[in-house]
Amino acid sequence: MDPLVKFFREHQDRMLDDLRAFVEWETPSTDKDLLDGFSRFLADYAVPAAGGRAEIVPAAGSGDHVLVRWGEEDGTPPLMLLGHYDTVWPAGTLKVMPFGVEGGVATGPGIFDMKCGLVQGFWAVRALREVLGVDRPLTFLCNSDEEIGSPDSRALIEREALRAATVLVLEPSLGGALKTARKGVGRYKIRVAGRPSHAGLDPEGGISAVEEMARLILELQGYTNAETGTTVNVGVVSGGTRYNVIAAEASAEVDVRTVARPEADRMDEVISDLQAHHPKAKVEVEGGMIWPPMERTEKIAELFDHARRLAADIGFELKEGLAGGASDGCLCADLGVPVLDGLGAVGGGAHATDEHVEVASIPLRAALVARLMETL
Ligand SMILES: [Zn+2]
Repeated sequence: MDPLVKFFREHQDRMLDDLRAFVEWETPSTDKDLLDGFSRFLADYAVPAAGGRAEIVPAAGSGDHVLVRWGEEDGTPPLMLLGHYDTVWPAGTLKVMPFGVEGGVATGPGIFDMKCGLVQGFWAVRALREVLGVDRPLTFLCNSDEEIGSPDSRALIEREALRAATVLVLEPSLGGALKTARKGVGRYKIRVAGRPSHAGLDPEGGISAVEEMARLILELQGYTNAETGTTVNVGVVSGGTRYNVIAAEASAEVDVRTVARPEADRMDEVISDLQAHHPKAKVEVEGGMIWPPMERTEKIAELFDHARRLAADIGFELKEGLAGGASDGCLCADLGVPVLDGLGAVGGGAHATDEHVEVASIPLRAALVARLMETL
């Protein structure tokens, strides 16, 4: 058996204790008090658990981020581990979705996306140093705002990624597969201004913003294309004030995803140029692409091939796939830094009530991350 797998299996109960502590500290993206509390917990954890030097990076608009470093940098670019510690779950979710381990499956809010990935990452660093005896420059960035588009941590992620040789993203896997490509994501808010009038007394005098929006919704949804992989979803719509008033205003929130960068730019142009049907109605568009797509470059393909061979030596088959969701890995890949994403937990139910991870996979995934840090 691989000595790392042996090490992690021997320490599996302690890894699960850590996972419980991580999950039982709720960290909704918008609750600064809870996030800051967890950032201090994490900075304290990282030092004894893995021998790192932890720094809390204060953030005004979101929870504080945590940056942990190992080794002396003397000119060698560090390897970077990346993961977010915020979750989509509001405070109090634990009461209805408590942490638990049963039948080889661990459950709890944020366990799959992505607290298990963080725990595996810290244990992988520990094993790298204690079992393999490797001391090399490493950076582990845990940010607090990924689930809301990383508005505050973006600059920090980019700064650290540009210094790094390779970025290993500990986001959850795709049924065990790594994510060698990710769709880019755009978010838009569309507002239509019409003209109000009495629906019965003056039907010709009004311009219905609701009718205009209805046309735009059909146009937008029509850009979804199974061949290119582009999807457009109008997820939220509102408009009008009363049943007998021709609506003066309507608005919609739109999610756009594309596989390739040129298509992302094209869709951005299409949406920015949306036109109303009625010549006197006005359309206003706000927003843009939040995450660029992560395309499967040659560098990423090479990295995956390396990881696949390491996994085979450890004793499992590693696959790759395209993720429909973006991550901070997209930001790093867009800078031209080699990225391997989806190295975290095996499980399912991200953002869903059946969120879970497979306990038996934890030693294998942690071993893969450690071997990557050893060999890259
Ligand atoms: Zn995530």
